Amino acid sequence: MSETRRQEVLPFHRPFLGEEEIAEVVDTLRSGWLTMGPKTVRFEEKFARQVGAKHAVAVSSCTAALHLAFECFGIGPGDEVITTPYTFASTIASIAYAGARPVLADTLPDFPNIDPDQVAAKVSERTRAIVPVHISGAPCDLGRLHEIAAGCGAVVVEDAAHALPATYLGRPIGSISHATAFSLYAGKNVTTGEGGVLTTDDGEIADKARIRRLHGISRDAWKRYTAEGSWYYEVEARGFKYNMTDINAAIGLHQLDRIEAFQSRRRELVALYEEELAGIPGVVRPHPPGDGESSWHLYMIRIDPERVSCGRSEVIDLLKEDNISTSVHFIPAHHHPLFQERYGWSRESFPNATRLYEGAISLPLFPTMEDDDVRSVARSLGRIVREHLR
Ligand SMILES: *Cc1c(COP(=O)(O)O)cnc(C)c1O
Repeated sequence: MSETRRQEVLPFHRPFLGEEEIAEVVDTLRSGWLTMGPKTVRFEEKFARQVGAKHAVAVSSCTAALHLAFECFGIGPGDEVITTPYTFASTIASIAYAGARPVLADTLPDFPNIDPDQVAAKVSERTRAIVPVHISGAPCDLGRLHEIAAGCGAVVVEDAAHALPATYLGRPIGSISHATAFSLYAGKNVTTGEGGVLTTDDGEIADKARIRRLHGISRDAWKRYTAEGSWYYEVEARGFKYNMTDINAAIGLHQLDRIEAFQSRRRELVALYEEELAGIPGVVRPHPPGDGESSWHLYMIRIDPERVSCGRSEVIDLLKEDNISTSVHFIPAHHHPLFQERYGWSRESFPNATRLYEGAISLPLFPTMEDDDVRSVARSLGRIVREHLR
């Protein structure tokens, strides 16, 4: 047993849910209205205010929000959507759901956000959307991406699964692009258990999204079983079962109140990681590109293979022996067999993304972590790396 081993397991993430969330869920259960209803509507209004968007449409996941966005912009077979290999598989899947073709543009050399120059090189007459992913919550270069999109008549749909709350040039993510998709999955900064939100300033897109998230039946279909509702409905668009439920919205209403507190604690923990890891050779700390303020969803370090003789996976195993849980974000899209087969990508296709991935480790970061937890991670990591210096 190593001398740096913690007594108790430090989880990679633990969501914070207070008595307010619990009471609100109980209230929902007692109300008899479980699915999308008045609390979802309140949650949407509150969410739109939070990110400075005109409209927020609550759905079942970020994956659903992305897919809905493509449907609402009329993107489908024959169209191309440019995105990054450095993302969760569902970004790619959501493009495939719409019937469009994902086209990948490699990341920056030293940070896993999409490189606008690589995007510009991938534009074709079929390009209909650009989908940046703000990795760890650090905003992509939206200025350049919007220029490129405007030049080819494409829309920008942000995968902001990590970026609640983040800002780009002082503006909140969610208020900038044609549409933005957020995740409220259990592991994200703000959670409803499972859930997602699509934000937009375009009223027509918001209306389309509201219809398409609930079977493609007419607006306010959820009111069918209320006093003001009617039994009659018509299917008017290709729709999906993507609505949020009031049970999830009940949690979200109170999670939104905690954003400030969550973020100030995340920033403190990141500052402490920066201090504690600064002297450790072979550990590259994250340097988010400069035009925004990150939500610090993840604290992603990189093990430098020139300095450290053991691989990233071995570092993860040794941290685990010290009772420290970690994760890896992300296995790039071009490493997955299905996507290789379907789109002709190989492991060599996007070298920046592959190199960044091969050294990446996400360290534990969540608001209820103690300062001493960060110190214990630094102690273990420091010992492991020093025992394997070249
Ligand atoms: C979590 C995540 C998603 C998917 O979010 P869901 O709400 O689980 O659908 C999409 N993109 C990225 C980058 C993510 O991290």
